[in-house]
Amino acid sequence: MSDTHYDIAVIGAGAAGLGIAFYLSEHAHVVVLEREEQPAYHSSGRSAAMYIEGYENPEVAELTSAGRDFFYTPPEVYTDVPLLHPRGGMTAAGPGELDALQRYLDAWQPMCPELKPISADECRERVPILKADWVTGGAFDPTWLSIDVHALLMLYQRGIKDRGGDVLTNKDVQALKRDGNRWTITTAGGSYEADIVVNAAGAWAGVIGQLAGLDGIELTPMRRTAAIIPPPENSEDWPLVHTIGEELYFKPESPGLMICPQDETPSAPMDAFPEEMDIAVAADRFLQVADHPVERIMHQWAGLRTFAPDRRPVVGFDPRADGFFWLAGQGGFGVQTSPGLGERAAQAILTNSAVDSPIAAERFVG
Ligand SMILES: Cc1cc2nc3c(=O)[nH]c(=O)nc-3n(C[C@H](O)[C@H](O)[C@H](O)COP(=O)(O)OP(=O)(O)OC[C@H]3O[C@@H](n4cnc5c(N)ncnc54)[C@H](O)[C@@H]3O)c2cc1C
Repeated sequence: MSDTHYDIAVIGAGAAGLGIAFYLSEHAHVVVLEREEQPAYHSSGRSAAMYIEGYENPEVAELTSAGRDFFYTPPEVYTDVPLLHPRGGMTAAGPGELDALQRYLDAWQPMCPELKPISADECRERVPILKADWVTGGAFDPTWLSIDVHALLMLYQRGIKDRGGDVLTNKDVQALKRDGNRWTITTAGGSYEADIVVNAAGAWAGVIGQLAGLDGIELTPMRRTAAIIPPPENSEDWPLVHTIGEELYFKPESPGLMICPQDETPSAPMDAFPEEMDIAVAADRFLQVADHPVERIMHQWAGLRTFAPDRRPVVGFDPRADGFFWLAGQGGFGVQTSPGLGERAAQAILTNSAVDSPIAAERFVG
């Protein structure tokens, strides 16, 4: 016997699960089931919190832009603070990297009209610690923004609850069974019934698929590491700087400067933690391009970014099981795509259709 019946059960209270539940709850009775004591304990609470429309690939760019209006003018009834703050993004090239910089500009300028090349001098005017004997040129895009992730996730949760939905924590989903036209979802804290299950379990999406007997969707969690170091003077308003070789980015992040070696180490789904070697690599790469000492590490963390092989999200009904919907593979873009993708995916569920986007589900087996 289940405790409660819902129209739709979303597994996972990260940005993806809360985002889709926000839109679904306008039209359906929804529950979000989260294993941890609090939402966003895993990847969604460990991101760099950036909103970058020209990111990863054209599909991701399109899904990010689909949430632009939501981010810029969020529903006032659920938040009284802005979700975005100015930051800017600089792509910096070192010796021998100007061709790569040009390729980057050629690829992204058609989609990002404000992305412009800048000289090495302008790079150093904007971020004076960049070494004069390293930086050879760059690009700057003022539309890269910082996301207030806490405010975003609180907005989703307020909306879900206000519309009659539930976000339940300490609910580790351990079994999934389809009987007739209903799923029975057994958790560590009781069982639930729902017509539709949404798999938004982040790094554990493959595990949840297996609970439903659905193997064969390739999703790889990859660890990414970050550290905060004491900041240079007057650096609060600097842009995020990333190297064209994708070996490093750094940006102001209270209480200091966040440095990240852009690592992608395959991992089992787990509570990720930083490896000493990755922190050392981040510090070393930072010292190669910047004139600023790494006196100490003030804070460090790691999180998992889960990718399908083509680095596009896996979204849609699984043709092998009635009422099982994937919302997985959000890689390094799951916060910024959460409203745009969440709204489209919710629409697909409510109309029982494919997702209106080039992402769709063509990679499903069977
Ligand atoms: C260092 C770093 C920097 C990043 N920077 C950015 C950025 O600037 N911008 C951006 O948009 N993205 C960024 N990302 C990526 C972003 O964090 C992820 O894409 C996003 O958080 C994924 O959201 P999610 O909801 O799919 O996963 P998660 O937030 O991990 O949520 C999945 C949830 O499912 C729950 N769950 C799993 N199994 C079960 C179960 N059996 N029962 C119940 N619940 C379960 C988990 O506990 C978890 O809370 C970054 C990631 C990292 C690590």
